[in-house]
Amino acid sequence: MHHPFNPVSMPLNEGAGMSRVLVLNASYEPLNITTWRRATVLMLKGKAESLEEDASQRLRHDTLLPTVIRLRQFVRVPYRELPLNRKNILLRDNNCCQYCGHIGDKLSIDHVFPRSRGGEDTWENVTTACLQCNVMKGNRTPQEANMPLRRNPYKPLSNMSFEATRQINSGKNKEWEKYVIGWGSNIA
Ligand SMILES: [Zn+2]
Repeated sequence: MHHPFNPVSMPLNEGAGMSRVLVLNASYEPLNITTWRRATVLMLKGKAESLEEDASQRLRHDTLLPTVIRLRQFVRVPYRELPLNRKNILLRDNNCCQYCGHIGDKLSIDHVFPRSRGGEDTWENVTTACLQCNVMKGNRTPQEANMPLRRNPYKPLSNMSFEATRQINSGKNKEWEKYVIGWGSNIA
């Protein structure tokens, strides 16, 4: 298949602070997040259609700023795994201790089933804990320590759903919800 452009290669963080546009595949699955500039180029080239617009922002007198666009041609996307690292674990958990709800910078990574007892480095076994909770829990499971988790750790499905979910949770782009929910995002 020939694709004159590659929306998958667009960097997620380009244009931080500017209006973000959710790019859907022709199948309506979220593909990417891009800037309104790139989204507009795709639309002007006839490669995408606008599904949602920001009524408060105009590109021209007759054109509203798109916030969700859909590609006219289906693009095959390879599965991209989200790296398991401290930064991504904290992001998944909204920088919030999953035991006491503390939000702040003194956060650590806790192994739900302790590493000293064979607990593994997996998305399902690591969670965000403040230093106090981490020390208090020690080498026990949440059940043993009587410290229930606010949310069971889970594996984010992909970079895309992760990024879009964060954007929605941050209060921006609420109109993206109907396109991302049901596709496998973890909005509680
Ligand atoms: Zn805590």
